[in-house]
Amino acid sequence: MIIGVDLDGVLAGVLPELIKYHNDKYNTNFEKEQFNSFDLWKIWNCTKEESLERVFDFYNSKYFRNIQPVEGSQEAIDILSKKHDLVVITSRASVVKDKSIEWLSNYFPDKFSKACFTSPWYEEESGYEKAQACKELKVKVHIDDNLSFARKCSENGTKVLLYNQPWNQLDKSDSLPENMKRVYSWNDIVEKIQGLEDEMYRMQ
Ligand SMILES: [Mg+2]
Repeated sequence: MIIGVDLDGVLAGVLPELIKYHNDKYNTNFEKEQFNSFDLWKIWNCTKEESLERVFDFYNSKYFRNIQPVEGSQEAIDILSKKHDLVVITSRASVVKDKSIEWLSNYFPDKFSKACFTSPWYEEESGYEKAQACKELKVKVHIDDNLSFARKCSENGTKVLLYNQPWNQLDKSDSLPENMKRVYSWNDIVEKIQGLEDEMYRMQ
């Protein structure tokens, strides 16, 4: 089957480097657990414009070049790539498209058949979203850490594995849709995908 894989927070451990960048440059003491939202300006206590400038500055820094794969991702992608067609679906800004593709070929050589750059989050209005990309690429399961993108994919009929992170926790009254499961590690992802395969096999 075709599996969509998000880049930041799922394959690429971007936050540890972003935190190091910010703490070094702005003399702050942020820790991962404080990042309970994608609205960085709320966490950094600055304007939205300023937060975007900082992220773009980070893209050009040594910290960005030092981003490491998320724990267990290389082994799991190796296993999954033997049976499935894997595609990267990321909302990372297109200005770092070349650097991102280079990073992927460095840490995940020949594992992905495609890297799709969807509506960048810094553009207020963009029609092209991950949900649409999943549909067009015939993705059966998409793995993401962004709750809003994940919900749109699931509403659009794509099964979603939500990679557990401090920024995708639910309010008490809220729950995940039936076709979305929370996963806690790459081992967990491999197991869940095996489970889905078994389920699809039984339905045939
Ligand atoms: Mg992400």
